[in-house]
Amino acid sequence: MGKSTIVREVLRRTGAAYSVSVTTRAPRADEVDGRDYCFVDRPTFQQKVRDGELLEWAEVFGQYYGTPAEPVRQAVASGRTVLLDIDVQGAVQVHRQMPGATFVLIAPPTDEALRRRLVGRGSEDPAQAQRRLAAARTELEQAERSGFYTHRVVNDDLETAIEAVVAVVREESAGR
Ligand code: 5GP
Repeated sequence: MGKSTIVREVLRRTGAAYSVSVTTRAPRADEVDGRDYCFVDRPTFQQKVRDGELLEWAEVFGQYYGTPAEPVRQAVASGRTVLLDIDVQGAVQVHRQMPGATFVLIAPPTDEALRRRLVGRGSEDPAQAQRRLAAARTELEQAERSGFYTHRVVNDDLETAIEAVVAVVREESAGR
């Protein structure tokens, strides 16, 4: 019950648009190019950065991730709510450029739960899982400190977490 499950359900229930990120990391077995991510090689990613095509971008574990700016601008211009599933480094950049955006922190109920989820996922080797755990802890601290995550949803019970994010999206959509 990760972030991506919450995001998928929130999109289904609210009709919000999803910002498909560009990444240099390899697709996982169940991921579809153009739906979950646009998978690109490093030169292509770097070219997008140079061309100013990305609203924000960040390097996570040696892989690049970024948000194409144009689809977000178009969706916002047409009055739609757009959901971005990005890390804190990216959120800092979006916050600078779009101070009116709403930031939701999805937090694990406990540190032990976070550890179980990341180490127990089994989709990567243990050393990599440990690195992800350390990074996730640091990220949570940074997000708490940043001050712009005005909503904090504890990812304990999946349905409760989904409904909490749905409520934020509805509030946000009604507010414009
Ligand atoms: P994963 O590789 O597990 O799909 O994602 C790793 C991390 O990268 C997650 O925290 C995810 O939210 C973040 N991420 C995904 N897309 C983007 C993006 O476009 N920009 C930034 N800054 N982070 C992203």
